[in-house]
Amino acid sequence: MTKYVYDFSEGNKEMKGLLGGKGANLAEMTNMGLPVPPGFTITTEACLAFLAQGGAPPEMLEEAGEHLGRLEETMGKTLGDPSDPLLVSVRSGAKFSMPGMMDTVLNLGLNDGSVKGLTEQTGGDVRFALDAYRRFIQMFGKIVMDVPADAFEHALDEAKRAKFEGAQDTDLDAEDLASLIERFRAIYAEHTGEDFPQDPKEQLRLSIAAVFESWNGKRAIDYRRQNKISDDLGTAVNVQAMVFGNRGDDSGTGVAFTRDPSTGERVPYGDYLENAQGEDVVAGIRNTKRIAELERIDQPAHAELRRVMDTLEGHYHDMCDIEFTIEKRKLWILQTRIGKRTALAEWVMAYEMLDEGLIDEDTALLRVDANRLEQLMKWVIAKQAKLDEKPIAHGLNASPGAALGKVVFTADDAAAEGTHGKGDKVILVRRETTPDDYHGMIASQGILTSAGGTNSHAAVVARGEGIPAVCGADKIKIDVASRSFTVNGTTVREGDIVTIDGFDGTVYLGELPLEPSVLARAQDGDADARKEKIWGAYERLMAHADSSRRLRVRANADTPDQSTNARERGAEGIGLCRTEHMFLGEERVGAVRQMIFAETAEEEQAAYDVLLPLQRDDFVGIFKAMSGLPVTVRLLDPPLHEFLPNQVELAVGVARAEARGENDVALRDERIPLDEAKTVLAKVDQLHEANPMLGLRGVRLGIVKPGLYAMQVRAICEAAAKVKSEGGDPRVEIMIPLVATKPELEQMLAELRPVADAVLSDASVELEHLEWGTMIELPRACVTAGEIAEVAEFFSFGTNDLTQTAFGFSRDDIGKFVGMYEERKLVPANPFVTIDRPGVGRLMQIAVEDGKAANPKLHLGICGEHGGDPASVVFCHEIGLDYVSCSPYRVETARLAAGQATVGSAESASK
Ligand code: PEP
Ligand code: MG
Repeated sequence: MTKYVYDFSEGNKEMKGLLGGKGANLAEMTNMGLPVPPGFTITTEACLAFLAQGGAPPEMLEEAGEHLGRLEETMGKTLGDPSDPLLVSVRSGAKFSMPGMMDTVLNLGLNDGSVKGLTEQTGGDVRFALDAYRRFIQMFGKIVMDVPADAFEHALDEAKRAKFEGAQDTDLDAEDLASLIERFRAIYAEHTGEDFPQDPKEQLRLSIAAVFESWNGKRAIDYRRQNKISDDLGTAVNVQAMVFGNRGDDSGTGVAFTRDPSTGERVPYGDYLENAQGEDVVAGIRNTKRIAELERIDQPAHAELRRVMDTLEGHYHDMCDIEFTIEKRKLWILQTRIGKRTALAEWVMAYEMLDEGLIDEDTALLRVDANRLEQLMKWVIAKQAKLDEKPIAHGLNASPGAALGKVVFTADDAAAEGTHGKGDKVILVRRETTPDDYHGMIASQGILTSAGGTNSHAAVVARGEGIPAVCGADKIKIDVASRSFTVNGTTVREGDIVTIDGFDGTVYLGELPLEPSVLARAQDGDADARKEKIWGAYERLMAHADSSRRLRVRANADTPDQSTNARERGAEGIGLCRTEHMFLGEERVGAVRQMIFAETAEEEQAAYDVLLPLQRDDFVGIFKAMSGLPVTVRLLDPPLHEFLPNQVELAVGVARAEARGENDVALRDERIPLDEAKTVLAKVDQLHEANPMLGLRGVRLGIVKPGLYAMQVRAICEAAAKVKSEGGDPRVEIMIPLVATKPELEQMLAELRPVADAVLSDASVELEHLEWGTMIELPRACVTAGEIAEVAEFFSFGTNDLTQTAFGFSRDDIGKFVGMYEERKLVPANPFVTIDRPGVGRLMQIAVEDGKAANPKLHLGICGEHGGDPASVVFCHEIGLDYVSCSPYRVETARLAAGQATVGSAESASK
C-alpha cells in the first residue's frame, strides 16, 4: 500500500520529490535535533492522486488522521479542544521552491470554543487569541473558500481607521477584534453561503484540499512555466503544530539568510518583525527590522539563531535561508532551504566557501549558474551621474542592477507594455506585489515598491528573475486611481521615466546614463574593479572550468572586430564565419547583382573580379585576428534574392512610374531608371521562390553557380597565403552549407580543392591546417552522415536549420506560436533556444556515431545558436562533439557550461 503521510522524524533532505523541499528539510532538521515544531507531511504522490481522482484518496485521509492523533499525543493537546486546543499550520511545499505561489493556512483548529482555550493557554491573553481567530477566518476564507481578499482587508482597514488615523493592526484591542471577527464571519457567510466551519477536522480536510488544488492555480502554473518546472510533480502538504510570533514584544518572526543573498558576503542577512506572524514579513504589511537588530532586542534568541545558522551551513555546505519564530523568547525554526541568491552572490559565495574549505573546487564550479553569467555583466548607473543626481526616493536594495523605464502601476499594464508585450521598457511601481503580479513583474525592467522588506514578495521574485528592484521606499505615496505617485513634493505620472538602482536602493526621476558592471570593467582591465571579490571568484572558477572542460569553445564571427572581441573573451577559434555579410554594402551589392544577372560567363567573371579583392581583404583581417586558431569559413548560404530589391516594392515602383509617365523608379534607398528597373524586376520574378528557405540556397547555389564558390575559395586561400607569408598562422577550414547528399559535397570538393591548390602553389605557400567539411543541418544529412563523412574532414551542426527542418517549423515565423506551444507543453522548451534532445538531438547523435564510424578522424562542432545555451552545451559534451561555437557575447557562458558539463558528468559517473 502506498504510504501517503510521513512524520517529520521519518524523512530526510534527500526525499524532496516525495515530501517537497519544505517537508524534506523539516524532516532533516528534526533529525538534526534543531527546534522544529512537530508535524507531518502528506506526500506529493497524495497530491497527484488527489488531482487525478478529483478528491482525497480514502487511505490518505485515514493515514492523516492517525498522524494527527500522534501529533496530538506528542503535544498533549487536541485539535479544537475548548480548554487546551492544538493549533496547526497547513503549508504547501513542492519539490522546487515556488515562493508564495501556493497556499498556506495558519491557526487551523480555532473555532468559537477553542478560541477560549487559546486564551487560557496564553494566560488570559484575549487579544492574542481573538487576533489569531480573525487571521484564521481571513486566511481560510481567502485560500480555501475563495472569498475575495479585499473584502477582509477592507473591513480590517475600516476597523483601524475607526480606532484612530494611522492605527496599525497591533493597535486593535480585544473588543475591536471581537467585532472584527463578527464582521469577518458575516463576510464569509455572504460570499460562501455557509457559516464558518466549526469542526476542526472539516477545516483540516478542506485546507489540505485547497493546498493540493493550488498546485493548478494560475500563478503556480505561470511560475512553473517561467522557471521550467514540470507540471507533473505535485505539492506536498505540511501539517505542523503552530508557534506564535505575535504573542507580544517578546515574540516575533523573521526570515534569515546565513549569508547576504544580494552580495554573497559572509554576514547574516534578513528581516525581523516583532510581535508578528510569518506572513506579515513576506506581505510587507509593516516595515521590518534588519536581523542584526535582533541582538539588541533579544540577545539569547539572537545567539541561538546564529548557532542554528552555523549548524545548518555546516550541514548543508551551502547558504541556507531560514524562517523562524520566537515565541515568548523561545526560538523555533519553521523552515530551511538552500537560499536563492543573486548571480553576483552565487559567485562570491562559491568562491569564499571554497576558500573556507566548506566545498571543493568542482562543487564551487557547479554552484554558479551559466544561464545567469550574462547578468553579472549587467549595467549600473554611471559613476558621475550617481554623484550629480539627487535621488527622489530611497528604499532597500532588494535586487541588484540598474534599470530605467516608463512608470506603470499595474502588473497588467506592465505585461501589456513591457518585454513580452509592446516591448517598451517599464518600471512596475506598486505598494507591494503579490504572486498575482508575477506576469507583470517578469515583463518589467525594474520593480519599485513603497512597502515591504528585502524578503517581501517583490524582492524575492526580482532576485530570482534577475530583475533590478528597490523595495520599501516608504516615502513614495502611490495613487493608483490617478496613475501617479508623489514623493517629497515631486509627482511622477504614468509614462514618466524613472531610473532605479537596485544596488543601493535609490530612485531617480528621468533617464540616467547606465554603464557596464564591475565584472565587465574588470574584464576590461580596470584595476579597481579587479580588487573586488567578484573578479577573484570569476577568475578562479573560470580557470577551473577551462582546465576541466573537454569541449573547445569557438565563436561565430564575421568581421575582424568581432573576431578580436571573441578572442578576448576566450574563444579558441571561429566556428562559423558567415560570408553573406561580405556581400552587402553599397560597393558590393552592385557587383553581386551583376553576378546574379550575368547572361554570359564573361559578365559573371567580371563581377567576381570586383568581389574577389574585397572578400580577400575581409579574410585577411579575420585570419590575422585569429592567427594560430582555426577559422571555419562558410561559403555563401542564403538565397540570392536576399541581395536584390524587394519584389513587391519594385513591382509597385515600376507600375507607379509607368502610370505617371516617369522615367525613374523610386525605391526605398535608391532611384533607378525605369528600363533598368524593369529588367531587375524580371530577374527578381524569375528568381522568386515560394519557399526560399528550402530553395536555391546553400550548396545548391554552389552547384548552380560554380564560379561563386570558386571565387570565395580563391579569396580565402589568397588571404591565407598573404597572412602566412607575413608571418601569421592562418588555420583554415572551408565549410559547405546545407548539404543533403554525399554527391553534393563530393562534387563541390572536386571543383574547389583544385582552386585552393592552384592559389597556394602560385603563392608558394603551404598551409599546415586546411580542412574541408560541411554543415550538418538537414535531417537527411544526419541519417546519411556515414556516407558524407567519407568525404568530409569535419561536421558542424547547424542546429538552427536542423531544428527548422526536423520540426518543419519556420525559424522566422515560429515566434507567433512557440509561446503557446510551450504553455501547452507541446514542446518541452523553445527548440530554437535549447536543443530538442529526443528529436533534433537524436538526429545529431546518429550523425556523430555514423560519421565517426566512417571517419574516425572526423572532427565535430556546432555553430547554431544552441552553441551558447548552457543546457545544449551539456548535450554537446555528452554526445562527444569537439567544440561549440556561439556568439562572442556568450563565449564565457559556453566555457563555463562546458566546464560544468565535465565536472557534473564526472560527479554523476562517480555516484
Ligand atoms: C544554422 O542553421 O544553425 C546555422 C548556423 O546557419 P544559419 O543560421 O546561418 O542558417
Ligand atoms: Mg543554416
